[in-house]
Amino acid sequence: MPLNASLRNSGLDFHSLYTSPISVKCLLALDSEKLINPMSASNTRGITQSRVDVLVVGQGIAGSWLAYQLMGRGWNVHIVDAAHQGSSSLVAAGIINPITGKRIAKSWQLDAVYKPAIAAYQALEQAFGQRYIHPCKLIRLYKNDEDKKRAEARFEDVDYTHWMHPLSKEAMPAVLKKREGFAIDGAAWVDMPALLESFKKHFQRQDALRTDTFNHTDLNFTEGSIAWQDTCYKWVIFCEGHATVHNPLFSWLPFKPAKGEILSLQTPTAADLEGALINAGPWCLPINKDTVKVGATYSWDPLDCLPTELGKTKLLEDYNKLIPGAVTGTVVEHKAGIRPSTRDARPFIGFHPKHPALGIFNGFGSKGALLTPYYSTHFADVLMGCVSLDPEVNINRYDTPHAPC
Ligand SMILES: Cc1cc2nc3c(=O)[nH]c(=O)nc-3n(C[C@H](O)[C@H](O)[C@H](O)COP(=O)(O)OP(=O)(O)OC[C@H]3O[C@@H](n4cnc5c(N)ncnc54)[C@H](O)[C@@H]3O)c2cc1C
Repeated sequence: MPLNASLRNSGLDFHSLYTSPISVKCLLALDSEKLINPMSASNTRGITQSRVDVLVVGQGIAGSWLAYQLMGRGWNVHIVDAAHQGSSSLVAAGIINPITGKRIAKSWQLDAVYKPAIAAYQALEQAFGQRYIHPCKLIRLYKNDEDKKRAEARFEDVDYTHWMHPLSKEAMPAVLKKREGFAIDGAAWVDMPALLESFKKHFQRQDALRTDTFNHTDLNFTEGSIAWQDTCYKWVIFCEGHATVHNPLFSWLPFKPAKGEILSLQTPTAADLEGALINAGPWCLPINKDTVKVGATYSWDPLDCLPTELGKTKLLEDYNKLIPGAVTGTVVEHKAGIRPSTRDARPFIGFHPKHPALGIFNGFGSKGALLTPYYSTHFADVLMGCVSLDPEVNINRYDTPHAPC
């Protein structure tokens, strides 16, 4: 039977096969048993002795993309999530900002990850019939002369001409009172709550999602697989966000979680921003004609998910500095979360040094929206045995002096 026909018969998610950048080698490596018999034992859920390819722990943006990619490759996937408790994805503004930081530099791996990310969100919009990604203008304001000089040097750099350009004072929204800055091209924001809800419904339709707290002591290691509750898995992949610091199997990794708070304001100033995200460190994002999001704080003590009065005051001050004379309006939402940041600002992807059937897909810091589509595709290909893991993200870059068990 031709490959296309057997894929169709297998009930695989056709759309994601063709919209995710799955390599030909991976396509050929799809489990032939599933192609022939989609209702093989591992295709049924929750039945004693059934064997499922992978259990994904955590349905934030990382776990959702990874589970979706694996399902698209014909894998049987279960997902367990503790009802999004402490979810950073549900707090995030979902901003994709190609040019960041004091150095006015390209975001790490931008050239590799950007196009696949945009394509992945667009493909998902097609598949689920809903909008998630919102392209937006991004104006970065100069903080000082040094900042301006750095930007001007970048305008001359061919590596940057696609990503930024100068803005005349006249081109700035009037509400910025002729402050100076430049435009960053290719910015967008992802509606993370809407995205997670759609993923959730998709996984529920496949009867693949369980709402439960995964307890690491409930894992049973048997020969060739790992059992959890009533099912055996070939792989268990942890996508727990900042909660991984409580996971005895991976807490040895040098995470550097950072708390952040964010406000939503209902204000007439939203319309005055002319759809532009304004950034000067703190940022202000109009999400519709009467609402802006303002973010985000960074703090490390205490590291909890509770919004604070201090955070709110700081964000309102930042908003007034960004847009002098802005109308505050009403605070309609105030959220806090913890970014799963890492000491070297690189994701943590890979396998446990002693139990290679246990994996981790985490450490996306403040860039989950940009990085997870590309790296979920990459890690799915790694799990399929088609490519080797990018050494820059591989957790084997760290020694494990206290040999975790
Ligand atoms: C204030 C703020 C603003 C941000 N703004 C942006 C932004 O503009 N752009 C951007 O790209 N990123 C932003 N981020 C970062 C972004 O939130 C993260 O990069 C991303 O959401 C991390 O996703 P994740 O799936 O790894 O973790 P999470 O979203 O935290 O998901 C982890 C999931 O695992 C589940 N879980 C954990 N432990 C268990 C367990 N034992 N059993 C069962 N389930 C479990 C949780 O319930 C949760 O649903 C921001 C973060 C904050 C805090």
